[in-house]
Amino acid sequence: MGLRPFRWQPHDGERHAIDDNAMPTQETATLCGAELTVPAARPTKQQWCWPTCTACDAAWRLAEGIPLFLPQQRDTNRKTAQPCESRRPTRT
Ligand SMILES: [Zn+2]
Repeated sequence: MGLRPFRWQPHDGERHAIDDNAMPTQETATLCGAELTVPAARPTKQQWCWPTCTACDAAWRLAEGIPLFLPQQRDTNRKTAQPCESRRPTRT
């Protein structure tokens, strides 16, 4: 395992989820329906700090069966330690 169907791609001020098979310079669409060309350059650290597209996040969770709400989730130490959110949806 370890392979995931999507990956995050910073685009237009937000981090969207795209098909993980999409290659650089290839045209693809985000899970929220926006079309984009996969950039050849890797995203910058700053771009990874862009807010997560909530529509893509929800679609990704739906596709992988990850619950939207985690009532039992405890606070993590990451919130104070890292300014950026996790790049991937939280798994239970
Ligand atoms: Zn999106």
